[in-house]
Amino acid sequence: KAVITAMVGRPNVGKSTLVNAMVGEKISIVSPKPQTTRSRITAITSRGDTQFVFVDTPGFHRARTKLGEYMDSVSIQSVPDVDAVCLVVEPVANVGDPERRLIARIKESGVAAVLAINKIDTVQKEKLLAVIAAYAKEHDFEAVVPLSAKNGSGVDILLEELGKFAVEGPQLYPDDMVTDQPERMMCAEILREKMLLFLSDEVPHGTAVEIIRFADEDGITNIEADIYCERSGHKGIIIGSHGEMLRKIGESARQEMEQVLGRKVYLKTWVKVRENWRNSASNLRNLGYYDSDS
Ligand code: GDP
Ligand code: MG
Repeated sequence: KAVITAMVGRPNVGKSTLVNAMVGEKISIVSPKPQTTRSRITAITSRGDTQFVFVDTPGFHRARTKLGEYMDSVSIQSVPDVDAVCLVVEPVANVGDPERRLIARIKESGVAAVLAINKIDTVQKEKLLAVIAAYAKEHDFEAVVPLSAKNGSGVDILLEELGKFAVEGPQLYPDDMVTDQPERMMCAEILREKMLLFLSDEVPHGTAVEIIRFADEDGITNIEADIYCERSGHKGIIIGSHGEMLRKIGESARQEMEQVLGRKVYLKTWVKVRENWRNSASNLRNLGYYDSDS
């Protein structure tokens, strides 16, 4: 059995922390600054015969930049193709605009939704009732779980509730696959995101990024990445004249990787044409490196 859950909620409510608490390993990037989770992050964990797959989203906000637009589309898109949605909120008895928009989206999609009221370590118990009441008025949630991602209380209950939406079938991922390389995955995401940012629409959607080397050496992380595209014309566009575009993409990606990893990064990239990579790289697609719907 497996259940895919989209973690949604405004930035900074603790989605990444919660995913990490459920998965028990550091997968998502957690930071006091909002918007650190830049794109879909998949985290996986198993309890008994149930596999839990989490799609952590970058929050729900009004797009102001092209990147923001992309991030917004990611968090919206992650709603329909999942078995359950977990709306994560602050323990305040006031449903804000971002929450309203997400709830509207949930209603529209008809997906089962569980409400996680996070950070209960910061409020008095008596106050929770008002929070629960405020949200109950907005939507008929399948379950409401007050919890603290930080100290772990209530986290198992959330897993139990989400487990109810598991679908019979084979495991979606091998047990040991996902959680092993969060930083690697993050860096692939960053590189792909820079392509979305700098290239015209048509090209990046046919691309995938595979990190072929990720090694810490003397305080520097050496990263080598293959960028797959489907046509030689695309390869030319990605590289640009005299390699200018690829340099720009690489430089911007490297800077962000350094920020996220907190270490110096050397990044080398290769652009490869692989007409059939979509068929052969289903694992990339599974990890969300590639939008299968575009
Ligand atoms: P995201 O943007 O929704 O992914 O939020 P993060 O997981 O990055 O968390 C944002 C901030 O909230 C971080 O500083 C976390 O340490 C903090 N945080 C997350 N969960 C809790 C919690 O249960 N209690 C408290 N007190 N802080 C939390
Ligand atoms: Mg996050």
